[in-house]
Amino acid sequence: MEVSRRTLLKTTAAGAGLSLAGFGFNIPSVKAAVKGFKLDDAQEYTSICTFCACGCGMVGYVKNGKMINLEGDSDHIVNEGGLCSKGASMSVIPNSENRNLKPKYRAPKSDKWVEISWDEALDKIASKIKQVRDDNWIAQETENGKTYNVNRCDALSFVGGAQVHNEECYLISKMTKMLGVAFLEHQARLCHSSTVPALSTAFGRGAMTNTWQDLKNAKAILIEGSNAAENHPMSAKWIMRAKAQGAVVIHVDPRFTRTSKLADIHAQIRPGTDIAFLGAIINYILETESYDREYLLTHTNAAMLVSKDFDFNEGLFSGYNEEKHSYNKKTWAYQLDGAGKPIVATLTHPDSVMMKMREFYKRYDLQTASNITGIPAEDIKKIAEVMINNRPGTVMYALGMTQHTVGVQNIRSFTVMQFLLGNVGKPGSGINALRGEPNVQGSTDFAVLFNYYPGYLNTPNHKQQTLDEWTQSSGTFRRKFMVNLMKSWFGENANAENDFCYPLLPKLNASQNYSIYRIFETALEKKMKFLYITGQNPLVTSPNLNIVQAGLQNLEMLVCADPFETETSCFWQKREGVDPSTIDTEVILLPAASFLEKEGTLINSSRLVQWRYAGLKPLGEAKQDIEILDLLFQKIREKYANSTEEKDKILKLVKWDYPADNRSDAVLKEINGYNHKTGQLLKGIGEIQADGSTSTGCWVYAGVYANGENQTLRKDFQTDPSGLGIFPKYAWTWPGNIHILYNRASCDKNGRPYDESKKLVWWDENAKRWTGYDVPDVPLATDGPATANGQKPFRMSGEGVGRLFGAYYADPETQGSLPRDTSYTPGDGPFPEFYEPVESPTKNILHENVASNPCLIYPRVKGFQEIGNKADFPYVLCTSAVSEHWCSGAYTRNVPWLNELVKETFIEMPHSLADKLGVKNGEKVKVNSARGEVVVKAMVTNRIHTLNINGEECTVVWMPYNWGFKGLSSAASTNLLTIDAGDPNTWIQETKACLVNVTKAGV
Ligand code: SF4
Repeated sequence: MEVSRRTLLKTTAAGAGLSLAGFGFNIPSVKAAVKGFKLDDAQEYTSICTFCACGCGMVGYVKNGKMINLEGDSDHIVNEGGLCSKGASMSVIPNSENRNLKPKYRAPKSDKWVEISWDEALDKIASKIKQVRDDNWIAQETENGKTYNVNRCDALSFVGGAQVHNEECYLISKMTKMLGVAFLEHQARLCHSSTVPALSTAFGRGAMTNTWQDLKNAKAILIEGSNAAENHPMSAKWIMRAKAQGAVVIHVDPRFTRTSKLADIHAQIRPGTDIAFLGAIINYILETESYDREYLLTHTNAAMLVSKDFDFNEGLFSGYNEEKHSYNKKTWAYQLDGAGKPIVATLTHPDSVMMKMREFYKRYDLQTASNITGIPAEDIKKIAEVMINNRPGTVMYALGMTQHTVGVQNIRSFTVMQFLLGNVGKPGSGINALRGEPNVQGSTDFAVLFNYYPGYLNTPNHKQQTLDEWTQSSGTFRRKFMVNLMKSWFGENANAENDFCYPLLPKLNASQNYSIYRIFETALEKKMKFLYITGQNPLVTSPNLNIVQAGLQNLEMLVCADPFETETSCFWQKREGVDPSTIDTEVILLPAASFLEKEGTLINSSRLVQWRYAGLKPLGEAKQDIEILDLLFQKIREKYANSTEEKDKILKLVKWDYPADNRSDAVLKEINGYNHKTGQLLKGIGEIQADGSTSTGCWVYAGVYANGENQTLRKDFQTDPSGLGIFPKYAWTWPGNIHILYNRASCDKNGRPYDESKKLVWWDENAKRWTGYDVPDVPLATDGPATANGQKPFRMSGEGVGRLFGAYYADPETQGSLPRDTSYTPGDGPFPEFYEPVESPTKNILHENVASNPCLIYPRVKGFQEIGNKADFPYVLCTSAVSEHWCSGAYTRNVPWLNELVKETFIEMPHSLADKLGVKNGEKVKVNSARGEVVVKAMVTNRIHTLNINGEECTVVWMPYNWGFKGLSSAASTNLLTIDAGDPNTWIQETKACLVNVTKAGV
């Protein structure tokens, strides 16, 4: 009999009386104590934590409709029963008196909420959406004399959410496309939007490569730009397991934190200089010839020949257009053979990627990197040697890397380093993007972002009027998935004759940016009329908050769906600088169910899709988001029922019919997809057809409902045949239950594992197929090493191999003129080059005339986006979160226990600065940037030191961003200070490095 850890714990507790008898205890009284245990007769259910994307399992206990206990699920493969302070305190939430219990309405100029019914609330919202849509519809746009159908409304916007389930994200994506919405965004834009293009450039996919449990297999762990121990606490469990087996842990971060405490080496880096640091590591590997030659030749583009037109000079790559701040990427191509494939030569060919890379990186010597980063040269060398001598090694990173104007290229640097070391695709290797919110991976998978459709398919733009034109830039490989998405959305109404309803879809203007920053900027221009937000609080988490406040004030209607009031939903409330009587925005606050009252799936950072049960009825009149979205869209369709207008045809053709008592399950099935010839649910990606005979709402999730069974319910935490932490029957990972992405690269050219002691997959010559402990990540399991498909470890890139150089490349189809697949190339360079942050305390010593990212366009809005300089703002501000509060604190600042642990915001500064300012620990200081000002307490520590940068002193200060004016603990928002200059690829803001001044308050 298999005994679960949870069963064992319970059995042990019940048996305690018997064993205690031997120690002379009074058995009847022990039995009575056990009998009276508070969980007796309680109903038990499992849920998943709602904070970081470790995705910890929880067990809730419910008695008489109330939650009486919540604890970590000891049968869970990630947390094994543990919870951090945030997760452990969540039993307060379902019983909280501060929850939103009824829909509320704030009229224009009013200073109060009025309770309204759900019917009234939904009717008001649906009417407003219809009015704004009808009044602002853009049927066509003209460019250079040519007219394009665009089917869009740019006055409607939706935000959220990484807090809601996959099924809810899918419905948000689907509904907004039917309404013609381009402005669809969520928190991923602000936290990890740079991850997807960076990892996709190198690997073909944009997700965390390995798993939380796999950290234990690493011999070296480089944690950079992440305070993992505090912000992804459960990862520390697996880091410590690796350490117990001898792994060396390195922490590179501007502060000494609890993560540094568990590391063997801590290097204090100046915020925004990671490319210089990693460039020096890469250069050291190249100069000492410490790279994995066999791996490079077999699995990467190192020996492919680069176009002779490619060049790099004085901070600029070839093809730069100064006026447009952008590159023509065509000179970043390969030399091609007659079939349009890259020519492969040797690692020493002068045109090879390898030789170009050597030339490029030789500028990044140890001393230059030290001058830029502040890390002593000998420490950089030491870290390089640790990574070289301890393979496989892995990388963990978070927002310290992503939130920069070079966010994409920061992460690209990891990919170059890891390829050189042969550290991708193997157990204990990879690049682990520590996704933040509980379902930010899912909300990205389901494209709650303007630039993707579900499954990372490019959003059609005005130049792609037909599916063929879309395919021209996306490839036939992805066209199949687009057709299947249309079949999911439109059912039998989508067919080859009508181009699968593709012409009805909204088309972005290819030259426009529809990111969350632009939502508020467009509102400033009075062009954005309506905003719906679920599970996000931009008036705390967005940078440069003055723009957010001003934008909200210019909307006609704001709708927020949340369990608690947030700063965003209450932006109109009276406080310094805000007078409700001058604000015309109508606001509707919908009471959303808390995560403990919801069912559906969410996906953790390592792509583990898990089912959450709703063990409780939502408090008051709260509803699950899936119900709210369903009811709202039904209401909108009702309002269009009699329309005969062309623009409304799409609302008639869309398939939208979910059972009220089982919505999440029905939507998950739609996401999985069907074979319409047999009526069966798809078993996996391999069954997806291009001809419209199958459908899938998100192709990477095909198989999540294989064999008619919801795979996310699986809980076998004991079967791990490899001992590597794979657990193939625990829930389900995308794609196709592959746990370690690119695992073909754990084998040599012939399909034999590089390390027999940690083998993962291999080619079975007898069975003539790829097999192993994990699902092999290969194009076709029966295509062996002797075939072209057998040598495609990075099958999602056009080349099929890993890309050190992000070449401009489209893989041709063997027949026809359409490409089979295209590879992604970042807009700001095929190699990662170091540029200073927009607000920098020093010059760029690599190329003084090209100081910051040359593709950057900032400021965008005059009067709101000032840039500070060192003379006025001499200190570098870095921001992140404290362990006890989550993001904007919408949940955690409503939990008394967590407020007791950390009750207010502060600024952390070194003793040298405190002495200079005459400030003592706990005294108030004024912090101001070119954009805003706050007063907070000083926390004087020796966890940050003044750095030596280019021969001058550079002081770094740090602030948490978790506070705002609502909740049980309120304080000034740090994001009043931060800058919203963005990476040119994804527009992610530079929250990790801006300039501020600090003075003693009241002086
Ligand atoms: S916040 Fe993260 S580590 Fe903490 S309990 Fe939740 S999922 Fe686990």
